[in-house]
Amino acid sequence: MHRTALTARRRARELDELASEPVDLLVVGGGVTGAGVALDAAARGLSVALAEAHDLAWGTSRWSSKLAHGGLRYLATGDVGVARESARERHVLMTRTAPHLVRALPQVLPLTSGVGPRQGITAGIGFGLGDLLRRDAGTSSDVLPAPRLARPGEAARLVPAVAREHLHGAWVAHDGQLVDDARLVVALARTAAGRGAKILTRVRATDLRADGATLQDTLTGATLTARARVVVNATGVWAGTVDPSVRLRPSRGTHVVVPAARLGSPAGALMVPVPGSGSRFVFALPAQLGRVIIGLTDEEAPGPVPDVPVPTPSEIDFLLATVSRVLDRPLLPDDVVGAFAGLRPLVDRAGPDDGAGPGSADLSRRHLVEVSPSTGAVNVLGGKLTTYRSMAEDAVDLAVKHAGLTAGPCWTANLPLVGAQPPVGAQPPVEPVETRTDALTPALVARYGAESEQVLSTAALPGAASAVGQGIAGTGHLDVTRAEVEWAVTHEGALDADDVLDRRTRIGLVPADRAAVRDVVEELVGDALARL
Ligand SMILES: Cc1cc2nc3c(=O)[nH]c(=O)nc-3n(C[C@H](O)[C@H](O)[C@H](O)COP(=O)(O)OP(=O)(O)OC[C@H]3O[C@@H](n4cnc5c(N)ncnc54)[C@H](O)[C@@H]3O)c2cc1C
Repeated sequence: MHRTALTARRRARELDELASEPVDLLVVGGGVTGAGVALDAAARGLSVALAEAHDLAWGTSRWSSKLAHGGLRYLATGDVGVARESARERHVLMTRTAPHLVRALPQVLPLTSGVGPRQGITAGIGFGLGDLLRRDAGTSSDVLPAPRLARPGEAARLVPAVAREHLHGAWVAHDGQLVDDARLVVALARTAAGRGAKILTRVRATDLRADGATLQDTLTGATLTARARVVVNATGVWAGTVDPSVRLRPSRGTHVVVPAARLGSPAGALMVPVPGSGSRFVFALPAQLGRVIIGLTDEEAPGPVPDVPVPTPSEIDFLLATVSRVLDRPLLPDDVVGAFAGLRPLVDRAGPDDGAGPGSADLSRRHLVEVSPSTGAVNVLGGKLTTYRSMAEDAVDLAVKHAGLTAGPCWTANLPLVGAQPPVGAQPPVEPVETRTDALTPALVARYGAESEQVLSTAALPGAASAVGQGIAGTGHLDVTRAEVEWAVTHEGALDADDVLDRRTRIGLVPADRAAVRDVVEELVGDALARL
């Protein structure tokens, strides 16, 4: 078992250790930000524990559009600094830290009757500026091709469902696309674990202080006092529940899921301007498991923060209507096989909501890193999935300074995540059950990179390379192997079938697919847990 492997057994041991041994840094929250902080701190040589109330990527980090943005959107709102940071971090992800998880995605903006001429021109200018950001970040056009005008035939090849009538061309511009957002979080957590970080899921933190927190093991109900030289609060949209000084203005973003076949199994993303806006688009993004996800809304979501936000019918109607403007056959509610929503943890810098502040679509996506006046912990809030690394760097810089720790400089920009290279401390499989190199499908490689072969060869349960079941989402086949379910338990810290269905794999984004394979996954998880 190598050092990056997260298991139930390791969790139990490390939780015990934490009760008696203080750590340098305790991070609360196991989304992309918290996992990024754990990795940054562990890589600097600090002893680290991460406490996550539910599971890795339980929160907003699994509900994103799964794009490693180049920051174009932020140019439109005048946030040049955020835009440049985003392009820089996209470059780091695509070329150094996680090239296995991020691919160049062609985005097609059709120039057709559903898109006004001004919107076409504005988009062209935007793509040009976005390309300047790419060059500024040093990303070569081999990694991300420059934007260009394409003929109707090429646009239709990339997105077959686009209406051909009145289609006189398209902009094709590239951005980074993650195979899955939750996989990035798990890769970060495992890379941190490889450097000694204790990654503790089902552990809720209460009573955050400058020198520790009360932790509750939600599996047993037991509590312990964790001592740390500094605490980092990375609880995202829930930050206000552990720190009364935090003011957030959550904004809900909704996506719907449709079978990829319904849109002709597109190779590229379809970009449709929101009527009346020069900077907002609805995207139909090709995704793994034979799906397309269509998003995104931006609705203020005041009030208590739910565990799992729910899309509203009007958001779903808006997405279907907007994307249908450029399709040959409009999408109907019956085409929708799943829908999900997430809350952006936007930081309210203007003060308590008096109703006069900016709308959430206009709030800055800049992150906030500060020592909390109420808990004494370092809060790291806001930002984006793409910029998790620089957020983590800022948070750990401040934490080190604030607590007077001795630590090396940040070097995560040059630290490949598991799967980007042979994992730290990896051992050759002891007794491969079968040689399954022929089962190394592109889908498996896209999810596990350099670890793909190990996922198959270390599986102990029979039928490793076969799929967990049939999908009903128009694909006829869910290409998630039984080996992946086992790997989730033996290496990725999955503690039950829900972790596997909803976060280690994304089968659960389509409820009917989830129901179809739930029994099989439960059985496989039970067997794998029993073998640990
Ligand atoms: C709809 C939508 C689409 C987006 N699309 C993109 C995109 O395509 N690209 C991009 O770059 N960004 C995108 N973003 C932004 C990005 O997803 C978020 O900024 C990011 O995921 C936030 O991560 P986080 O770790 O800060 O928060 P979270 O992922 O929410 O993590 C916080 C964690 O803290 C845990 N927690 C809460 N309270 C406690 C406690 N008391 N004890 C222990 N743990 C606790 C929660 O369970 C949760 O797992 C999108 C956001 C939304 C909403």
